[in-house]
Amino acid sequence: MNKAISDKVIGRLGQYRRLLGRLAEEGARFVFSHDLASMARVTAAQVRRDLMVLGASGNPAKGYSVSGLLEDIEAFLDAPDGQNVALVGVGNLGRALLAFFAGRSTKLRIVAAFDANPEKTGRVIHGCRCYGMDALEAEIQREAVTVGVIAVPADAAQEIAEHLIETGIRGLLNFAPVRLSVPANVYVEDIDMTVSMERVAYMARQNAVSLEKL
Ligand code: ATP
Repeated sequence: MNKAISDKVIGRLGQYRRLLGRLAEEGARFVFSHDLASMARVTAAQVRRDLMVLGASGNPAKGYSVSGLLEDIEAFLDAPDGQNVALVGVGNLGRALLAFFAGRSTKLRIVAAFDANPEKTGRVIHGCRCYGMDALEAEIQREAVTVGVIAVPADAAQEIAEHLIETGIRGLLNFAPVRLSVPANVYVEDIDMTVSMERVAYMARQNAVSLEKL
């Protein structure tokens, strides 16, 4: 794995994959970098630089092969046998995540969920078995989980993160509204939906005011 590649490039490759998948469904066989760029809202030079990471090169007359790029991105982004994911916190958000991801990807599977509340455990929710916190380490090891999703309240998130890291997990997707403090070798992505909603609401008000002035 090339460590010099930034998470921004990885994020854009995932975005290109989604766009290319749509193009393939529509029957497109080739795509030019400038078309992919305008769909992804980046520059064509950026697309070409990103695709160079894959070793992909386009044909000046036809562009890039859609199926070829999809294969290259898959080979680059996905672990060959997929990766197992564990979720901690089976509240409203956790259950929504289980429902959303159930059967969605064969490469990233939420294989176990954990919660401190005994009412939430010992059952299967959207195809995923929910365990008590005392089973966390054993299940994560048994299922060779490499990614953790945190959907507990803010005050519990840091402790959960540390617990997951102790089991060997090095990637966390954090939905708790708190900045986690983690060692440098752990990758965390924070998703704060409240902050996003507030930002959109604020911008909506600003744009409404500027529209009135038009
Ligand atoms: P619900 O009403 O179903 O509990 P909620 O979305 O209101 O849902 P939250 O208070 O946001 O619940 O908590 C999310 C989940 O995190 C809950 O299922 C809760 O039991 C669990 N949880 C809270 N603290 C911990 C902890 N320290 N360890 C593990 N799970 C926890």
